[in-house]
Amino acid sequence: MKVKFNINSLVRDNIKTLKPYSSARDEYKDVAVKNMVFLDANENPYENGVNRYPDPQQNLVKEILSELKSVPKQNILLGNGSDEVLDLIFRAFCEPSKDNIITLPPTYGMYSVLANINNVENKEVLLSDSFQPKVSQILEKTTEQTKILFLCSPNNPTGNTFSVTVVEELLTKFNGLVVIDEAYIDFSEQLTWLERLKDFPNLIITQTLSKAFGLAGIRLGICYASEEIIAILNRIKPPYNVNELTQKKAIERLLEPGNVVKEIEKIKLQRKWLMSSLEEVSFVEKIYNTDCNFVLVKVDDAVKRYEQLTEKGFVVRNRTNQPLCNNCLRLTIGTEKENSALLQALKEII
Ligand SMILES: *Cc1c(COP(=O)(O)O)cnc(C)c1O
Repeated sequence: MKVKFNINSLVRDNIKTLKPYSSARDEYKDVAVKNMVFLDANENPYENGVNRYPDPQQNLVKEILSELKSVPKQNILLGNGSDEVLDLIFRAFCEPSKDNIITLPPTYGMYSVLANINNVENKEVLLSDSFQPKVSQILEKTTEQTKILFLCSPNNPTGNTFSVTVVEELLTKFNGLVVIDEAYIDFSEQLTWLERLKDFPNLIITQTLSKAFGLAGIRLGICYASEEIIAILNRIKPPYNVNELTQKKAIERLLEPGNVVKEIEKIKLQRKWLMSSLEEVSFVEKIYNTDCNFVLVKVDDAVKRYEQLTEKGFVVRNRTNQPLCNNCLRLTIGTEKENSALLQALKEII
């Protein structure tokens, strides 16, 4: 457990003193009160379902999420995809051209892109051969200016989850913020870190509706952290960052968790089928374990097999240029029909 941790020592000075934009809906919140005439936001008064600005605090979405995930509402922040959430974290805590972050390749590409955009140095520490974080090397690379450690677990593109004891050690010994990206947690048998939020004041967890919830098109990312961290991120987020159509669609989907679970179960069954079937493909050399809705496979020649698959109408992700992923392809689990067609194609391209 963390004893001495002061979030204010990590916040950029300009963010500490920032006066946030105050929108019309921040100043008069009670839109549910009947018979009020809203003449404060220069909206077009003729109703069409979206003529009013959306709720800047996305209260209904957060209430449903809070119930579903057993996390209080004040520990939740929503963004235009996880990508916006991650960008807000950079902008709140990393001083451009001064601070740095640590990422563990091979991993999700957005962390390094966001570091570049924000002019923040990205110190890389490769995962071990079994795709686990190397704790002592991470701690050795850490400096006074290291603000964030990004852990993607389950990890994209390797598919595995990081060991609980390793993550716990990092949460305890690393002196900055630890972001655990749980984009794929709903496909995993491993526990989410959400239950441990109270134990670690430096823990930030991100999730998304883009994968298991089947809503990549609406762009809704979720951030869970201490009240203090959420309050800081709230000060810098664009006032209406989650649009009305997105909020409506998210609410609809979050209210039918049974349907989401059914799809996840189908995907997991298909994952099992595809993984065992891939063993019959002559040029597949290794099938990595996965807790995600994709599987990483090592083949004899990734560039050649990628091109052959494309010719047959299958687009997969070639990860051969990522460290530790030589000749690896990442295959997303599709429908039953798509997966058997993929297997058929793989068997034909000998
Ligand atoms: C797909 C993915 C996301 C999702 O990002 P959104 O912006 O929410 O769509 C986040 N993290 C990882 C590791 C992913 O693979």
